[in-house]
Amino acid sequence: MLLDEIVITYPNYEIKTCQTLAEYSLRSLTVNDELNLKSSAINPNNAAKLLNKVLYNCIIKKPEEIDSYEKWISMTTFQDRQAMIYGLYHATYGDEYTVSNVCSECDKLSSYKIKLSSKGFTIDYYPKDKFEILKESFEVLLPVSNIKFIIKYPTLDKEENVLKINDNVNITDDLEIYLFYVDSVIYNNETIDVKNDLLNFVNFIKTLPSGDKKILNKFIMDNMLKYKVEATYKANCKSCGATNTINIDFVTQFFRSL
Ligand SMILES: [Zn+2]
Repeated sequence: MLLDEIVITYPNYEIKTCQTLAEYSLRSLTVNDELNLKSSAINPNNAAKLLNKVLYNCIIKKPEEIDSYEKWISMTTFQDRQAMIYGLYHATYGDEYTVSNVCSECDKLSSYKIKLSSKGFTIDYYPKDKFEILKESFEVLLPVSNIKFIIKYPTLDKEENVLKINDNVNITDDLEIYLFYVDSVIYNNETIDVKNDLLNFVNFIKTLPSGDKKILNKFIMDNMLKYKVEATYKANCKSCGATNTINIDFVTQFFRSL
């Protein structure tokens, strides 16, 4: 028998995404996938794209609407990806996580081995139809400048476009939130599409009055982060015994496990 005649069955995990409600079956990572992901640490600008590519390669069952990588990144939101990463983690490493946490009382670091499925893990699903959320938009008025933003749930293609301009301008976290969420700007009843003109939009954002700056952030926090995967775990500090609530970030957790 030859090596290439060996048929390997990979462990897999089924997950329904929290925002677009798409159902996927994901196979575990291979050694090659892991090598690719590790190399992404060298260039953080490429990390998101590499992660997307690997994630897409691990899909063994997907909705029929999604027939290419380009289609997938345009129909998958950030929170959907979090759900898929959870699924990929589960298929690859099982249900056990090692999390570390700095105690809020005594500042000492403890680490815990936890099983996620038993407690603390929840998925809050968007209450309407499949892919409906992609059509949803919100109007946010910036009261000082009297400009309106039309914002949408950010998809992975939006993120890839933003990362492309990162070579030309320094995109800080402050700017990222505008670039990911804002679809167009309304001024004097005229709508200006900004998603295909990101470099100019960056310059525009910088001219906005400071008083308007926090509005977008607050709107997103209050309205757009309801449907998501969430994992919280209560643990007693190993030094002082105080109870801490730990939020597990799947992306960080995922890269730590490689
Ligand atoms: Zn403590």
